[in-house]
Amino acid sequence: MSDTTIDLSSGAVLRKLEGHCLCGAVSIALHGANGEVDVCHCTMCQRWGGSFFGGVQGAAFDLSGRASVTSYRSSEWAERAFCKTCGSHLWFRFIPADHYSFLTGLFELPADTPLQIKQQIFVDEKPAWFDLAQSSPMKTGAQIIAEAKTAGFELGNPPAKDDDRPDA
Ligand SMILES: [Zn+2]
Ligand SMILES: [Zn+2]
Repeated sequence: MSDTTIDLSSGAVLRKLEGHCLCGAVSIALHGANGEVDVCHCTMCQRWGGSFFGGVQGAAFDLSGRASVTSYRSSEWAERAFCKTCGSHLWFRFIPADHYSFLTGLFELPADTPLQIKQQIFVDEKPAWFDLAQSSPMKTGAQIIAEAKTAGFELGNPPAKDDDRPDA
């Protein structure tokens, strides 16, 4: 197993979050977590994880057990990583920005951990059988793709709703 430190874009500091996959082969320490959870309701996230995606970002992270990590290039601009032994999902990486969003469920989170939902995206693809009770900004796929373009990322045409479309 190798240990790697990777710098991410800096943001507001929460504290170090420590987590690991189900089997323990992969451990992640997230430094400077920004205290916000990004929720994605797109159909790719649903198929990948069974329901919505909830990810946290930080300023940097330490990764142990890289040899156990498998990455899947799910679209032109995204990579999704998981533990090859236990299948735990680890992160979604937005490739154009080299931006990692780690699965919130990996981390040990005491009840007082000040995390809150930053936004819910692709709400137009959210299934009808649940709603998250917390109030948060809600954005459709078209809105979030427009935001990414405004930020300077070329993501191609708005996605069609099928299995082959790229994800944001
Ligand atoms: Zn594992
Ligand atoms: Zn998604």
